[in-house]
Amino acid sequence: MPGEPWLLSEVTWKTVRATDYEVAVLPWGATEAHNFHLPYGTDNHEGDYVAREAARRAWEAGARVAVLPGIPFGVNTGQLDIRLCINMNPSTQAAILSDVAHSLEAQGIRKLVVLNGHGGNDFRQMIRELQPACGVFISTINWWSCVDSKPYFDEPGDHGGELETSAMMHIRPDLVLPLSEAGAGKARTFKVTAFREGWAWAPREWTRVTEDTGVGNPAAASAERGVRFLDAVTGKIAGFLVELAAADLGDMYELRTVE
Ligand SMILES: [Zn+2]
Repeated sequence: MPGEPWLLSEVTWKTVRATDYEVAVLPWGATEAHNFHLPYGTDNHEGDYVAREAARRAWEAGARVAVLPGIPFGVNTGQLDIRLCINMNPSTQAAILSDVAHSLEAQGIRKLVVLNGHGGNDFRQMIRELQPACGVFISTINWWSCVDSKPYFDEPGDHGGELETSAMMHIRPDLVLPLSEAGAGKARTFKVTAFREGWAWAPREWTRVTEDTGVGNPAAASAERGVRFLDAVTGKIAGFLVELAAADLGDMYELRTVE
């Protein structure tokens, strides 16, 4: 039987032909080590889950959203020395994004959201470059930062930490090793003060920063924390998709008085 109409990889031409899709969502992850206890596909499982769950909720609210098959490779230039971390350069990503957006443009789908699942990806500059040459309105979100994670976790962490581990314990518990097998996710900081304070930035050499590839302690993770956070995240993203689907691209701005 054909699957849900918001999941492009599961529907047939029969459904697609009869559906007036308004927004396409492109999950974009990475293939990389996540401490000892989470799989290499963590960012892909998370991004796909968030996209499909948000699309389901948006669809129930009347928005016609199509989740595209996710792109499984991210920018991992700082992890080239970790076995089977697969890097996709930003310039390659920009070419892929352009091809996807132009396909949608030719088919009359006017809105595209890149749903990012990996900290090393950043689509904003690609979108700035692509937008003037493409009739599709392109936007991007990082799923993990749509909602303030602090009330949900003791220490959310960055990579393979409590937030990500909790999310995976809900999404794919079959792929998560017992927490007793996880490293502590201890990360070294830069010695230079400005980097540490965050107002100067440089990419990190991952294997000099962490021993177990994790950045963030997963010890307090649980499926219950994961599902509570994911529920808040997918609800918020669904609201965004509904509003975006209804938005008039010729009339996107307004003056607001500050209250
Ligand atoms: Zn991750």
